[in-house]
Amino acid sequence: MAGGLAFHNLPLKRRIDLSACARCGTCVEMCPVYAETSAREVPPFYKIYLIKKAIRAGTNPFLSIFGRRIQEKDIYFLRDALYRCSVCGQCSFVCPSRIDTIELWEEIREIFVNAGYGPLEAQHPLVQSIKNYDNPWMQPRSARRRWADRAYRERRLSAPVKDLSRGKNKAEILYFVGCTASYDQNIREVAINFAEIMNRVGIDYGILGPEEYCCGSTPLRMGVKDVFLQQVRKNVEKFLSLEAEIIVTSCSGCFKTLRQDYPKYSQFPFRVYHMTEFIYQLIVKGKLSLSREVDLAVTYHDPCHLGRHNGLFNEPREILKSVPGLKLLEMERSGIYSRCCGAGGGLKAGFTEIQVSMSRRLVEDAEKTGASEFVTACPFCYQSLKDAIAAKNSSLIMRDITEIVISAMG
Ligand code: SF4
Ligand code: SF4
Repeated sequence: MAGGLAFHNLPLKRRIDLSACARCGTCVEMCPVYAETSAREVPPFYKIYLIKKAIRAGTNPFLSIFGRRIQEKDIYFLRDALYRCSVCGQCSFVCPSRIDTIELWEEIREIFVNAGYGPLEAQHPLVQSIKNYDNPWMQPRSARRRWADRAYRERRLSAPVKDLSRGKNKAEILYFVGCTASYDQNIREVAINFAEIMNRVGIDYGILGPEEYCCGSTPLRMGVKDVFLQQVRKNVEKFLSLEAEIIVTSCSGCFKTLRQDYPKYSQFPFRVYHMTEFIYQLIVKGKLSLSREVDLAVTYHDPCHLGRHNGLFNEPREILKSVPGLKLLEMERSGIYSRCCGAGGGLKAGFTEIQVSMSRRLVEDAEKTGASEFVTACPFCYQSLKDAIAAKNSSLIMRDITEIVISAMG
């Protein structure tokens, strides 16, 4: 077995995916990590070739990745290529063989983790923080609903946010805030704005505060399945104790994880919506009217977990198009071809410098549109892009889509 890597655990579908690579090279130029690093081992074109060689080396001790007996450094080379990827899914969308690289990368990373090769040293603190504090930011659980209480005290919320922890209250909808919007001082605005939208529309919702736990998205994407499963167990046990059947998230990573991954691993009788779907439905049903003019030219960044991974390209755009006076300008790469900000898949923790240059390039794309504001619908993307705007001294203003909605509500 190549370095204890249990490739025999790969499902048949992934083996078929691996053999479906026609080595056409289409994925190379579209890979956002390749664009920053020119590392040919990152896009699937070469990485799949290396993986297949490693598999063969695993079944035949006389073969190796590089034509000689397999060595630890070959395994580490492949391991780094696997983690130098934001799992953005761009390669899957341009691949003529439609290889599902998103699932492929996650499952192969899991094999590396199980053999003791992953995650990366730089990613350990994040995993440890989730284990110890139920969030990646090393913040106390008790501070998780502080944003809501403070915003109400400061009259930024027209009504208090219901506390659903310890069975205190009931609500029809659980707002799953997510770690970044709960704790990051600069990003709490996302949670405050979305909560205020629900207040003004009269939605019966609440949050779990200290009993909301990290959804486990990043550990899952990094192949650390045991930590992900621990988060699933804790969250689902809590969800099942509530009366809410609908869960709304503001983070696109939480959204993907709760909607797509939780049902694979647990009893999950809930309907999960991202806030953009939810807001769009409120507009369509006439419950939310955007009547105030917002005279801005904006461009919109599709978060990978919302767009490519879940097909939610139209809802955010329809929301923006409903705002009187607002001009939506598209970047050269948008929709399924949108550039990744680099924050996902553990890349930000593992290879920060690559993530930073990916975000900078995205900001440059946004600047070329002539927009004054850069809008997105994910706190994690927001955080990275805001940092890139500051680092570049760009004149763009970072906005979450909820800020625009609040401005447009009469
Ligand atoms: S998922 Fe994205 S970053 Fe990873 S190899 Fe594919 S295109 Fe590159
Ligand atoms: S685009 Fe698909 S078939 Fe072509 S090299 Fe990349 S993974 Fe292989």
